[in-house]
Amino acid sequence: MNASFDVIIVGGGLVGASLAAALGTAGVNVALVEPQPVRPLPADDSWDVRVYAVSPGSAAFLEACGAWSRMPPERISRVEAMRVYGDEPGARLDFSAYDAGLRELAFIVENRLLQNALWQRLSSAGHVRVFCPARCASVVWEPAAVALRLEDGTELVARLLVGADGADSWVRSQAGIGVKPAAYGQLGVVANFGAAKPHRGTAYQWFRRDGVLALLPLPGDRVSMVWSTNESHGRELLGLAPDELAARAEAASQHALGSLAPITAPAAFPLQLQRVAQLVRPRLALVGDAAHNVHPLAGQGVNLGFRDGRELAAVLHERGAQQDCGDYYLLRRYERARREDVLALQLTIDGLQKLFAQERVWVAKARNLGLTWVNSQPQLKKLLVRHAVA
Ligand SMILES: Cc1cc2nc3c(=O)[nH]c(=O)nc-3n(C[C@H](O)[C@H](O)[C@H](O)COP(=O)(O)OP(=O)(O)OC[C@H]3O[C@@H](n4cnc5c(N)ncnc54)[C@H](O)[C@@H]3O)c2cc1C
Repeated sequence: MNASFDVIIVGGGLVGASLAAALGTAGVNVALVEPQPVRPLPADDSWDVRVYAVSPGSAAFLEACGAWSRMPPERISRVEAMRVYGDEPGARLDFSAYDAGLRELAFIVENRLLQNALWQRLSSAGHVRVFCPARCASVVWEPAAVALRLEDGTELVARLLVGADGADSWVRSQAGIGVKPAAYGQLGVVANFGAAKPHRGTAYQWFRRDGVLALLPLPGDRVSMVWSTNESHGRELLGLAPDELAARAEAASQHALGSLAPITAPAAFPLQLQRVAQLVRPRLALVGDAAHNVHPLAGQGVNLGFRDGRELAAVLHERGAQQDCGDYYLLRRYERARREDVLALQLTIDGLQKLFAQERVWVAKARNLGLTWVNSQPQLKKLLVRHAVA
């Protein structure tokens, strides 16, 4: 079978699926190729251990894609304040949505609910054809088109191929685009807890000698933990009985939310920084983790990906009726628009991670003074918040 499209997207994770929905809504003919069908939601009301802090800008993009309003509102929590603690007593940085003139700093949502909302939207979206389960076999870039062959022999032809296939992107390696991976030697250990004290919509973060611990507010008095820590400590945490892990998290969070009780089993993810040499080539664009990887300490990874999708959809939408959507000069517009945001965030997050990993006494003094100083600068804090909610 042969089929022809404007755009083929390889990878139907959060970023690829939202881009497909955005392009389909704008009348672009899209093929979406994904090997793994989305898992159906469980029949009980259990919680997904994997959650995201979705910025208001990303939520608006997901709303425009037709996915956000498909999420059950009672499973979304609003982050109205953020409290960041340094690793010396008294060092603290607070952000508040109210002070920044906003309703919220972020929304906390479960991965599987968002995935399902996006895929539900795709099933009713015109202009999007989903190939799933389907695996890519080969790809050939020609001057006027790109041809993707699937393992079952189907050949898809389009003007543009988008790689949205995650950190180990097959598309990126087929295009021969170089990548500089730098493993942090850390794991992100995640688990959800019930908390004895109300979180009042506050996200907490502690920079500690053993890593960065975050407790994000979930609906009710539940919280989601992300503890980014060195591999051996991460494996130790993962091996603890659920009650013991809750007790460790409670102690490490200085009992800020009172006693913690487990509501999910823990999971862990390896953390890495990944810089990709190019985001575009003629008839090729990379988005999401295929284009960049960042440490989760700022909870920005998937937001960077949504901003990629939003920008690429806008560039393709504004191209005018005549212009070829795989045209290199058009795609360069997308690359130029995204480079600065991606690089700035990678440098800031990587710098912060390294700064708090240093054990020298003077570095520890300086970073904690820095945190306290930023806390005393309302205009600077407003600027930081404005960037984070985009
Ligand atoms: C511990 C941890 C916590 C995190 N917390 C946050 C957070 O709070 N906020 C946040 O913004 N980000 C967070 N992130 C980052 C976030 O998970 C990623 O940035 C995000 O999932 C990237 O989405 P993606 O769609 O680009 O890639 P992926 O989610 O990796 O999706 C890629 C898709 O491509 C498919 N695929 C793979 N290979 C192929 C192939 N050859 N052909 C076709 N399809 C293929 C896969 O099946 C998958 O569906 C966190 C990450 C970690 C590790």
